[in-house]
Amino acid sequence: MTHPTPIAFAAVAVVVGGITAGWVRAQVFIHSVDPHQAWRTTCPHCTLPLITSHHARAWLPHARCPHCRRQIGPPTGVVEATMILTMAALAWTVTDPLLLATLLVFTTTGVALVFTDLAVHRLPDRLTLPMFAVTATLLTTDVVTHHHPGAGVTALAGAVGTSGFYLLLTLTAGGGGGDVKLALSTGLMLGWHGYLAIVAGLVLGFALTAIGATWRLLTGRLSRGEDIAHAPGMVTATLAVALTAGYASR
Ligand SMILES: [Zn+2]
Repeated sequence: MTHPTPIAFAAVAVVVGGITAGWVRAQVFIHSVDPHQAWRTTCPHCTLPLITSHHARAWLPHARCPHCRRQIGPPTGVVEATMILTMAALAWTVTDPLLLATLLVFTTTGVALVFTDLAVHRLPDRLTLPMFAVTATLLTTDVVTHHHPGAGVTALAGAVGTSGFYLLLTLTAGGGGGDVKLALSTGLMLGWHGYLAIVAGLVLGFALTAIGATWRLLTGRLSRGEDIAHAPGMVTATLAVALTAGYASR
């Protein structure tokens, strides 16, 4: 059997990215509420219901309320472009199908967490914990079926080490438990690519977070003492390391 061309992989990723963007929008909309508030199901402008059934809870392809036409969630096209470009890049560089599936799950939940963190500085357990459960299960399957015990060990070390590092950061410098739970997944994905990738991902994540915080401070979007969102830096750094490792091993 001949292997699909990278262009075929990328074409599938574009379709998958476009479809999953609707799920990402729904998760960002539902979870972008202040602490101790019920998850959002109605339009914040006209209060008409947008999430009306358990089934519909998974999808919200609109960037505008269909009733009052005002913007809800991230601006039009931003989530869609992020998903399609990331998934196309992953499909282009990652050849192991199970690793690719794991990274697609990581990207879908990761992008939902990034936009939620940027909106309300929250990383809900309802996303971070299933994200870790599914990525860990897929990578465990990869370890067993493709005989990658070494990658399994470093992935485990990455999950323990990275979440331990963020736990230490939370206890000493303040921060959220959500970062610690997200670090289980970012550490797992980084560790799959070796010990150097764990260190590179941590350093790059902090560098991106610092750059993002400085830019928001300089443009007046962040005031001193306000919580800093770590998810954008953590998820972007993990994907950058995975893409670099995938490209290098092609
Ligand atoms: Zn509305």
